[in-house]
Amino acid sequence: MSTSIDTLTGETVDLLQALIRNQCVNDGTPESGHEVRSAELLRNELEGFGVDFELFETEPGRVSLVARYEGTDPDAPDLCLCAHTDVVPANPDGWTNDPFGGELITSPDGVDEVWGRGAVDMLNLTSSMLVAFREVIRTGKRYPGDIVYFAVADEEAGSVLGAKQLLADHWDVLHCDYVISEYGGTPSFGDNGTTVLLTTSEKHSGARRITVHGTPSHGSMSYATDNALIKASEIVRRIAAAELTPRLDDVFAARVGALGLDPEIQKQLLDPAHIADALAALPPALASNLHSCSHMTINPNTIHSGEKLNTVPDTAVLELDIRMLPGQTQQDVDRLLPEIIGPDLMPSVEIEWYRDDLTNGFGVSSTESPLWDALGDAIRVAYPEATVMPSLVTGGTDCRFYRERGIPAYGAGLLSDKVPLSEFLSRFHGNDERIDVDSLRLTTQLFLDVFDRLWR
Ligand SMILES: [Zn+2]
Repeated sequence: MSTSIDTLTGETVDLLQALIRNQCVNDGTPESGHEVRSAELLRNELEGFGVDFELFETEPGRVSLVARYEGTDPDAPDLCLCAHTDVVPANPDGWTNDPFGGELITSPDGVDEVWGRGAVDMLNLTSSMLVAFREVIRTGKRYPGDIVYFAVADEEAGSVLGAKQLLADHWDVLHCDYVISEYGGTPSFGDNGTTVLLTTSEKHSGARRITVHGTPSHGSMSYATDNALIKASEIVRRIAAAELTPRLDDVFAARVGALGLDPEIQKQLLDPAHIADALAALPPALASNLHSCSHMTINPNTIHSGEKLNTVPDTAVLELDIRMLPGQTQQDVDRLLPEIIGPDLMPSVEIEWYRDDLTNGFGVSSTESPLWDALGDAIRVAYPEATVMPSLVTGGTDCRFYRERGIPAYGAGLLSDKVPLSEFLSRFHGNDERIDVDSLRLTTQLFLDVFDRLWR
């Protein structure tokens, strides 16, 4: 017998609170994360239901869990629910409530919300996926394909100790044909009806390290020095001033259309000649997201130069965080940077790849797939007339490791009408991260409805 959605939502809330309180904070060092806490918690949640699971430890404490519920037909495609258990750090000073309290709080306008780091990225999905997965097992329902629940470590620092390594080493355990992961499912209600965005692609890195050369000299004289730091500063200034060409494709247009903006602003955002003015007129957090979704971005984020106060430095090293749109290549970066740096300064610089495993992207998951159709139909259970549109995520997700293998991977969930897209985006890695209980209910139900529709 199936459990009522209210009971399941209660289970999702409890589990989300416990995952937040586990504080699996990934600061980028191998010693952080401690995802073993949440892997063991999730194992305990599944124990006794007769499902196969396995734990994998890539470094001490960096534990991921894989559980597989077998289908009835070995030839049917398998679905993986890929959910990370780590979160980024949170500074309590910027928060209204304890970032690791996992408290259930009713807002002044009567909305019940679970507060804490990870509430939208992505412990909300990690918990609702587990509850939906377990509900299938509990009811004894069998589908043709397997359902895999993959609670993975180290997503927030490049996935080296998580999905990247585990998928490479244990494909025999993790194999699947479709993937749902973070994030998507914000409905917007405009003149053209309801639109829900799901993620089908993400940006990829073109990070570079630039070494700027100069000539050392005595710090007591500044006239006509060949100071590497001054040259590097000029390069930083030119990068900041560079206006890169926007790419205003259908995916971008869908995002713009989903925001419920003034029609004139929408028109400007989709016009290369006016997008800059339109962005300047929007709230900064929203403008920043829209800019990133339509441009390659270059952020000069570190600089190191000089050894001694009384010596003009002969080198400066500058690191650029560069993020490309799907389809843009490392060669595009190699062409662009010399143009920005300029012929006068290029002879003084060397440009290197920041890491040697940079790619030309991970591909875009096509919307021509049974899983896309199942997600669309399942979303229309909650929002009957909704149009489901593909979208881009500006950061990285574990979907890329599946897309590289040609496996359709979508970022999906389903949110209530209480969180506008712009507000939702601001909570990622932000202060006062929280999720309303209605959204947890919709997302838990979404996964159950997807199971019922995928293998029809
Ligand atoms: Zn995430």
